Amino acid sequence: MMLSKKYDLIVVGAGVLGTFHTYHAAASGKKVLHIEKDQYPINATVQNFGQVVPSGMPANWFQYGVYSTQLYNQIQSQFDISIRKNGSIYIASDDEEQNLIHELKAVMDSRGYEAHLLTQQKCIEKWPALKASYCREGLFFPQEVSAEPSAMIHRLIEYCSTKFPNLTYKPSTTIINCDISGDEVHVVTHRSEVFVADKVIICNGGEFKILFPDLFRDSGIEISKLQMLRTMPLPHVGLEGNILTGLTIRRYESFTECPSFSALKTPEHLKELKRWGIHILFKKAQDGSIIIGDSHEYAGVNDMDDLGFELKQHINQLMFKEAQKIVLFDVTDIASTWAGFYAQHPEKDIIEIDIENKIHIRTAIGGKGMTSSAGYAEKSIQKLFSTQPVY
Ligand SMILES: Cc1cc2nc3c(=O)[nH]c(=O)nc-3n(C[C@H](O)[C@H](O)[C@H](O)COP(=O)(O)OP(=O)(O)OC[C@H]3O[C@@H](n4cnc5c(N)ncnc54)[C@H](O)[C@@H]3O)c2cc1C
Repeated sequence: MMLSKKYDLIVVGAGVLGTFHTYHAAASGKKVLHIEKDQYPINATVQNFGQVVPSGMPANWFQYGVYSTQLYNQIQSQFDISIRKNGSIYIASDDEEQNLIHELKAVMDSRGYEAHLLTQQKCIEKWPALKASYCREGLFFPQEVSAEPSAMIHRLIEYCSTKFPNLTYKPSTTIINCDISGDEVHVVTHRSEVFVADKVIICNGGEFKILFPDLFRDSGIEISKLQMLRTMPLPHVGLEGNILTGLTIRRYESFTECPSFSALKTPEHLKELKRWGIHILFKKAQDGSIIIGDSHEYAGVNDMDDLGFELKQHINQLMFKEAQKIVLFDVTDIASTWAGFYAQHPEKDIIEIDIENKIHIRTAIGGKGMTSSAGYAEKSIQKLFSTQPVY
C-alpha cells in the first residue's frame, strides 16, 4: 500500500451532492481531494430532468432551493454550466388543483417569493404547445432555472477544477475502504492507494454495496426507479422552462402546506396513474427534444436489485396517454427512454451519518438533489468545519 499526502477533506462521489460539497470546501480554502468511481458521473445526477424548482420543496428545504438557484446563476455568469432561467409553471386542470395553486401562491407571497397566477389564455400565449382542454390556470415562478442533466455536472466539475488550485479531482477511482486512524481518516482505492485527510464526506448516491454496507442495511433507505422519455428534437414546440402539471400539484411536498391538500381526493381517472407514482413533467432540452416523465416504483435498500433493468410498457403507455391530454405535439415521437434511480428515506429529508466526527455520510437526498444540493452542501460544510453550532 502507498500512503499519499494529507488533505483537509476527501469527498467521495461526484454526483451533484458530492460536487457541491467539494465546491464549498474548496471555496473556503480547504485542500480537497474529490474522488469518483466512474470515468464520469452517470447516475441520478445525469439521469434526471434538470428542473431546479424551489417552489416544489418542503418548507424546511425551500431556502436551500433558493440559495442553490442563486449559486447556479452566479456560476453560470462565469462559466457555462448549462443553466437557463426560464421559470417553472404549474398547470391546474380541475377545481381542486386550481384551489391548490391559489393556496400555494399565498404561501409563496408570505415568503416574499415571486409567483404569478396566469389565466388559461396567458398560459397558452406563453406555452403554445399546451392544450386549452387541459389548462385551466397556471402558477408561474419566473426566477426558477433548469439545467441540462447530461452536461451540468461535467461542466461544474471542470469549473471547480479550473477555479480552485487547492482541489484535486480523481475520476475512475473506487473507494473500497475508509477507516479512522488516530486523528486522520485513511481512504483506500481499488488500486490500493491510500489517501489521508482530516475528514471524509461520502456522497455515495444510490451505491450501498461498497462502503459501510452494514450501516445501510438497517438505514430504512429506499430506492426509487423512475421511467423517463425523451422526444425527437422538436425545436418549433413552444414549451420552455419547467412544466409541471396537475398530478405534480397533487404530489409535490410544497403543496402539502396548502389548507385544502389534506382533503384532496384522487379522481377515478387518475387512480391507475397514482398507483405507479406517475406525474407528468416536461422539460425542453437545449437541442429541442422534450424530456417527459415520470413514474415511481420503490424497493427497500436490501431489495433494490428487485427493481430490475426493464422498462414497463404499461407505465410508458400511461404516461403517453396522460401527456397527450396536456400538449398538442405527438408525445410518442420518442428518441430514447430510460430508467433513473435515486435513494430516499420515507421519513427523513436526507441521511446524515457521522462517524466520530471524522467520516460523514450524506446520501438519500431523494428527488430534490438538483434543486437543493448547492444550498444544503454549503450549510453542511459550514457545520462540519465549524467549532460552533451552525443550526
Ligand atoms: C429520473 C430522475 C429525475 C429527477 N429529476 C429531478 C429534478 O428535475 N430536479 C431535482 O431537483 N432532482 C431531480 N432528481 C433527483 C436528483 O437527480 C438526485 O437527488 C441527485 O442527482 C442525487 O445526487 P447524488 O450526488 O446524491 O447521487 P448520484 O448522482 O448518484 O452520485 C453519487 C456518485 O457517487 C459515486 N460513488 C458511489 N460510491 C462510490 C465509491 N465507493 N467510490 C467512488 N465513488 C463512488 C457514484 O459513482 C456516483 O457518481 C431526479 C432523479 C431521477 C433519477
